[in-house]
Amino acid sequence: MTVQADNIAKSVDSEPRVTVGKPSLYQNVIRQFNKAADLMRLDPDVRVILATTENEIVVHFPVRMNNGRIEVFTGYRVQHNDALGPFKGGLRYHPSVDLDEVRALASWMTWKSAIVGIPFGGAKGGIQFDPAQYSAIEVERITRRFAYALGDNIGPEYDIPAPDVNTNAQIMAWILDTYQSTVPPHERQRNIHVVTGKPLAAGGSAGRDKATGQGVVYNILQWAQDRNLEIQDMTFMVQGFGNVGSWTARLLVELGARLVAVEDVTGATRNPDGIDPVDLLEYIRTHGGCGKYPKGRPGDRIEFFNVDADIFIPAALENQITAESAPWLKVRLVAEGANGPTDPEGDAILERRGIDVIPDILCNSGGVVVSYFEWLQNKRSEFWDLDEVDTKLFKKMTSAYTRVRNTAREFNTDWRTAAYILALTRLETVYKERGIFP
Ligand code: NAD
Repeated sequence: MTVQADNIAKSVDSEPRVTVGKPSLYQNVIRQFNKAADLMRLDPDVRVILATTENEIVVHFPVRMNNGRIEVFTGYRVQHNDALGPFKGGLRYHPSVDLDEVRALASWMTWKSAIVGIPFGGAKGGIQFDPAQYSAIEVERITRRFAYALGDNIGPEYDIPAPDVNTNAQIMAWILDTYQSTVPPHERQRNIHVVTGKPLAAGGSAGRDKATGQGVVYNILQWAQDRNLEIQDMTFMVQGFGNVGSWTARLLVELGARLVAVEDVTGATRNPDGIDPVDLLEYIRTHGGCGKYPKGRPGDRIEFFNVDADIFIPAALENQITAESAPWLKVRLVAEGANGPTDPEGDAILERRGIDVIPDILCNSGGVVVSYFEWLQNKRSEFWDLDEVDTKLFKKMTSAYTRVRNTAREFNTDWRTAAYILALTRLETVYKERGIFP
């Protein structure tokens, strides 16, 4: 493929952006990383490599809007590490997307793939805009122009995007179509695995839509078993009711747990007698959010965080459980569906209060595992049924859960640090075996 990306700026400078006051998201990642690296005595050479991103791609691309005017958008793709396999990670459409956020999300992808033992590295990307402010056809043009601008920086054996916040199977189908349109006709069918999370008819996998939520649920079930708790006796609350939050809620309710509170970008709703997640999802589809759901009591952020429940599943954005909000929680488990929902101060408070945490890089890794299954099916021209996907996912998730738990015991540390240690150990072994060129 010879298409040149427009206006690509690559840099090896991965120093966390200096911010006044609060640490940046990537600085939080480096704090988590350093804690694990110190405890396991990570090889210093491997440490400097992994504390740095590999490639940082920034593209500015023009798109014609419905009113006939041109708007220029900024898109990112950060490739953190590919020692274990091709770069892999989602694309996010949100006004908060910037280099710092994408660096953090890209490095979490590296750790995640290493923990679950799949042959992928870590990457993440996105466009800094709010898709809700644009028409569907404009979002399609923006997506296609972004895919074209990324050009050779993505590829089925090189860097494979997937859905994340405000992106979905439809957006993956547009990226696939754009990418395929830029390669010679005889190569097109060889490129279907350039994105995962595609619609079924376009080469997607059974079970990819629910995969992240399903993985969260498998983790919660393991935790309940360890604690001798029955899932049908438990209540839970969810922040974010998009792909991850709504699937987790539906699957947990099917198992008999009770959903008692939901918060999304429009506000919160609570009902101690239980909320039907399918009914709520239908309401959100027609009303844009759960804030005014008539079968629950509306509440603000403080009321939401103070709800009595056994499990809290953050499934929205970063930095939600902080020094301010961690003391409000009344739960016994935080199962992190979102990436980076707990900042280091929030973590310390949860630990002090004896609240268990299943960390993001373990808890939400079901998405990338089934993305790997989709990638494999595409490469082999196979189609696995849902039972096969679920069985394989269950095996991967339970074995990763067990290894993180055992590592936490071995190092006498929290689960987040244990999950990092597991990932770093695998990467360290690969670097020691392969050495560094030249
Ligand atoms: P989504 O776009 O489908 O849903 C996001 C939800 O978060 C929406 O309900 C939105 O209203 C809510 N939200 C946004 N801002 C909020 C705020 N300030 N307060 C409360 N709610 C807010 O996104 P998603 O794909 O479900 O991703 C959610 C999280 O899970 C992200 O952190 C993402 O990186 C992570 N994740 C997603 C996947 C995946 O397969 N989609 C995989 C792993 C991790």
